[in-house]
Amino acid sequence: MKLEDLQAINAFLPEALHMCRATAVSGEVASYIPELSKKPKEALGICIIDRSNGCVTAGDVDLPFTLQSISKVFTLILALMDNGEEAVFAKVGKEPTGDDFNSMLKLELVEPGIPFNPLINAGAIVISSLIAGNSPQEKADRILQFFRKISHNHAIHVDMDVYASESASAHRNRSLAYFLKDNGVLTDEVDVEEVLDVYFRHCSIEVTCKDIARMALLLACDGTDPVTGENIIPRRYVQIAKTFMITCGMYNASGEFAIGVGLPAKSGVSGGILTLLPGRYGIAVVGPALNSKGNSVAGVHLLETLSAKFNWSMF
Ligand code: GLN
Repeated sequence: MKLEDLQAINAFLPEALHMCRATAVSGEVASYIPELSKKPKEALGICIIDRSNGCVTAGDVDLPFTLQSISKVFTLILALMDNGEEAVFAKVGKEPTGDDFNSMLKLELVEPGIPFNPLINAGAIVISSLIAGNSPQEKADRILQFFRKISHNHAIHVDMDVYASESASAHRNRSLAYFLKDNGVLTDEVDVEEVLDVYFRHCSIEVTCKDIARMALLLACDGTDPVTGENIIPRRYVQIAKTFMITCGMYNASGEFAIGVGLPAKSGVSGGILTLLPGRYGIAVVGPALNSKGNSVAGVHLLETLSAKFNWSMF
C-alpha cells in the first residue's frame, strides 16, 4: 500500500473533522441504555489502519465506547466458526428487514419465525445461543478472548457499568428472547436469561477506535492478519460478514449508506462505526450523537466526506 495515500488522508482529516463535528448537534446520544447517555454529544474521532500497520488518527480517537451492535459482526463469525454455515442459517435468515434493529414485528408476521438476519437484536440473541461453551461464562469468555485476539488488544474488557445498565433496562430484548423461546428458535435446553447475559456482555465490551480499526482491517484482509500472515477467520465467513454489513450493517439506513459511502460497515448505538476498504484499510469512527436510524450523525457525515474525496466506494 502506498504510504502517500494515508498521508493525503491525514492531511485532510482536520478539515473534514471540523466540518462534520458541527453536524452532531442534530443528533441525540442514546439513552434507552441509561449509562450510554453519559458520553459527550459533540465528540468525533477516527482511526484508519493500513496493511503495513500505518495508522492515522484524528479528533477524539481515544474516547472509550462500548461495541454494542458492532459486536454482532464478530459473534456471527465466531458462531460460524463454531457451528458451520448450515447450522447457523437454520436459525437466522439472510435478509434485511427495513424495520428498527429491536423490532419484533416480523418474528410474528413471517413464517418461519426465525430472525431475518444476525445483525438485528433478535438475530444476534440467537447467535449468542450458538456460541460454543459449557456455561454462559465460558461463552462470554470465548467471545472476549476472540475479540482480544482480533483487536490485538489483550486489555479490552466488559464495561460493567454499561453491562449492568443494559441488563436492567433490556425489557425489549427480553421480550424478543422470550418470544424466540416460545416459537422454538431458542430450544428447550436454552436458558433465556443465560443467553441474554452472553448478549449483554458482548455488547458492553469497551474499545477505542484503534481496537475496532484493527478488527476491521482483518475483515479487509479476508481474515488473514496482514502483518503475521496468520489466517484467523476463514475467508468464506468474512465474505458472509461483509455481505451482511452491506445489506444490514447500518440498520434500515443501509441502502443510504451504501449509496453515500459504498463500504461494508457496522454501527452501534454507542456511536461507533466500523468500516473497511477491501484489501486496504480498517476504519473506525466514534461520534455518540445518533440520527433517527440509530447511526452516528457526525460519523456517517465524516465517512461520506472521506469516501467522496478519496473515491472509496466499492460500487
Ligand atoms: N445492546 C444494544 C441493544 O441490545 C445494541 C443495539 C445497537 O447497537 N443497535 O439494544
